[in-house]
Amino acid sequence: MPSEILKLTTEIVVAHASLTELTSEQLVGEIKDVYNVLASLEGGKILEVPVSEKAEEAGGVKKPSIPLKDIVKNKYVVCLECGKKLKTLKTHLRKAHGLMPKEYYQRYDLDPKKFPLVCKDYSAARSQMAKERGFGKK
Ligand SMILES: [Zn+2]
Repeated sequence: MPSEILKLTTEIVVAHASLTELTSEQLVGEIKDVYNVLASLEGGKILEVPVSEKAEEAGGVKKPSIPLKDIVKNKYVVCLECGKKLKTLKTHLRKAHGLMPKEYYQRYDLDPKKFPLVCKDYSAARSQMAKERGFGKK
């Protein structure tokens, strides 16, 4: 006789499978996962459910957790990977996340023209310096 958990598991997996295409392997894995979680919840144990990073990566473009209008400011730019606020992201992306600017833009589907990797003040200061240098030549 099927248990309550098994019935619930079936319902959840069927609902999911109707939304996403699952291979039979994935389906079996999901049934096991869902069953385990339900069983452990019923048993009062807190189970740490592994976050499936693979599924996220397979999706391609990530959805930024920060509103895009808030990521490039006068004083800082926000790293969409970790939420850090920095004057420039280039070095940070490479060192902290192993990402090249191009990969970063691709990952979040950003337009490099709209979302520079440096804050507004920083790029303004740089062009100001360039101007001054230019004027100092003569
Ligand atoms: Zn970061």
